[in-house]
Amino acid sequence: ERPLLQIEHLKMHYPIKGGMFSRTVGHVKAVDDVSLSLNAGETLGLVGESGCGKSTLGRSIVRLENPQEGRILFENTDISRYSQRAMKPVRKRLQIIFQDPYSSLNPRKRIGDILAEPLIVHRLVERSRIEGEVERLLDMVGLPRAYKNRFPHEFSGGQRQRIGIARAISFEPKLIVCDEPISALDVSIQAQILNLLSDLQRELRLTYLFIAHGIGAVKHISSRVAVMYLGKIVEIADKRALFQSPKHPYTRILLSAYPPPDPTLRSDKRILIQGDVPSPANPPQGCRFHTRCPFAEERCRREEPLLTGGAHAVACHLPLNGRLDEEGFR
Ligand code: SF4
Ligand code: MG
Repeated sequence: ERPLLQIEHLKMHYPIKGGMFSRTVGHVKAVDDVSLSLNAGETLGLVGESGCGKSTLGRSIVRLENPQEGRILFENTDISRYSQRAMKPVRKRLQIIFQDPYSSLNPRKRIGDILAEPLIVHRLVERSRIEGEVERLLDMVGLPRAYKNRFPHEFSGGQRQRIGIARAISFEPKLIVCDEPISALDVSIQAQILNLLSDLQRELRLTYLFIAHGIGAVKHISSRVAVMYLGKIVEIADKRALFQSPKHPYTRILLSAYPPPDPTLRSDKRILIQGDVPSPANPPQGCRFHTRCPFAEERCRREEPLLTGGAHAVACHLPLNGRLDEEGFR
């Protein structure tokens, strides 16, 4: 069986303008040669600091951005060069939810009308069944039916995210790109939204690309996790393997910043990350992580490591090879 989504050598480079004539003086390599695939029904967590290109990657998959190079195969069809018109029918099966759904909810419209709009525009249900369908969507995301008469500003952040999710599932999608859907929410609400997404995944057989900046957010919902740094995937593995035996120093550092499930884990096992993220307009030569890596050697400054290793792939010349819960993880 082919994967539901397959990304091959995707590149998203933005020109940087400068000088008196606003000429292109360089390129921001937001996404630089990324390949990955998603099987139907799974959740791939995509983690990295802000500016690493994870949102750009997510937005390019649903074609809110135009990739410069590479292929995006969705249901075995290359949609990477589709026009917006050609994308329209595909979008029903390929949805995105955002960190702040409020910005995409028309403040002058009632929730019932907001949820009815795609049903009407895309002729998803008959006119006579629209009100019933809106109520069914509210049920599915755990909101009272009476809320259909309210306006967006009357809702909390968590409730607005439920509305964003209701709108996404109204299309009966196969894949939903979840772009940091819980980052702006209170911790207590985050778990509720994660549970809702998990329940809907089971009921509707959804596939998720779940984007987050913290590794803790992807722990429960993901089946696999990919770690991104400066436009590149640096490690990808089954969640268990990644959390128990991370191979890339950056993954190890992200995990050490995440509260350990075992409080006896000694704090001296934590490694601190050095410095800021370099500019993606001018990424370091060799391994892009070498300016911050505590293990960097001469070779790392010269030679770019490739992502290799099959099911647990890593892009590092000196991958770590111990379990996190043992002494001396290197
Ligand atoms: Fe660190 Fe070198 Fe591995 Fe890069 S290749 S992550 S600099 S050890
Ligand atoms: Mg983002």
